[in-house]
Amino acid sequence: MTTKTQSGVEERKSLTAEKSGNGTRKNIKSLHSLLETGLKDIYSAEKQLVNALPEIARAVDNEDLEEAVTFHLEQTKKHVARLEKIFDRLHITKTDSEKCPAMEGLIQEGRKTIAEFERGPVRDSALIIGAQKIEHYEIAAYGSLCELADVLGENKIHDILGRTLDEEEDTDADLTEIAKDVNDEAYELTESQH
Ligand code: FE
Ligand code: FE
Repeated sequence: MTTKTQSGVEERKSLTAEKSGNGTRKNIKSLHSLLETGLKDIYSAEKQLVNALPEIARAVDNEDLEEAVTFHLEQTKKHVARLEKIFDRLHITKTDSEKCPAMEGLIQEGRKTIAEFERGPVRDSALIIGAQKIEHYEIAAYGSLCELADVLGENKIHDILGRTLDEEEDTDADLTEIAKDVNDEAYELTESQH
């Protein structure tokens, strides 16, 4: 009983010490580490996409969609290069060991779609849905990384990340446009079968 109370008091003391001692510096350090973790996560995500997007481009039927995916593959390669530039600027050692599990799952869903649906507009609709989930993941990641870079006064890094964010948002908007035609085609096809 006495021991328990004593350890409890000690614990509270150390928590207080952590808070009051160098509180500001600790916070800055942890935001830097959030930035670093986030950069490594999206780097893994982008690299996985460079591998996966050619598979998706081959699997789609609609020409505009194929063109959009192929165009975004080239942009994605630039996203990887920009992140490598940021790693250099921040002296971060990039590793290939940390795999972004969220992107792995999203890509897996795309492969499942390809396996389950035959080539045509319905598969295209399903692949657009998957692709937009991927773009939204990236938009969320780059949006928050831009904010972190901004608050840390990393203006150059904020600008580089902002360029990629714009391209992800444009891609999402293009996919929404293409989906209008593809979904109409898919509707016509499935309706005519009934
Ligand atoms: Fe990207
Ligand atoms: Fe993207």
